[in-house]
Amino acid sequence: MKLRTPLTSFIGQKLGRLTIIDIYRDAKSNILAKAICECGNDWTGYFVRVQSGNTYSCGCYAKELKQKSFKLQAMKRRKTPRKKLTGKEGFYWR
Ligand SMILES: [Zn+2]
Repeated sequence: MKLRTPLTSFIGQKLGRLTIIDIYRDAKSNILAKAICECGNDWTGYFVRVQSGNTYSCGCYAKELKQKSFKLQAMKRRKTPRKKLTGKEGFYWR
């Protein structure tokens, strides 16, 4: 299997808040990336996750989002009816 872009070309690149410092394969030939986050933490995980944008930070960004939405919820804490979940998402009906 050939990849269009050599993986090593991603080293030094910044994806989201993560700056890739190393890319390697583990024993199961998963491609792993080592990165440093803007907040100073280092992060290691599947490279595809950073490349696809699923992973944006070491986790600090998600924490910030949570805090933000928590604040919003606190502001919106009136009697607003909750949206009903359809349950259709993630399922495929034939
Ligand atoms: Zn971080």
